[in-house]
Amino acid sequence: MPTDMDLWIQPCTRCADLYGNPATEPPHQYLIFIGAGEKREVRVDEHYKCVRCRAMFARILAGPPARQIWMLLNAGQH
Ligand SMILES: [Zn+2]
Repeated sequence: MPTDMDLWIQPCTRCADLYGNPATEPPHQYLIFIGAGEKREVRVDEHYKCVRCRAMFARILAGPPARQIWMLLNAGQH
């Protein structure tokens, strides 16, 4: 987990739309790739940050299909 993560951001519309979608969905235009997690040389997730609202996303690429989604890591309560 990055240490410079902003907690409790307010996601922009693009992030709010992407959140919870299947990981097969491509990242939206404001997301920048910041790194990937690997287990035994298999990519298990990718991390992205939104340049608009500073949301941090994890794109889950391994495990049960139902869990392979875009997870928003620092969204505030709505
Ligand atoms: Zn955003």
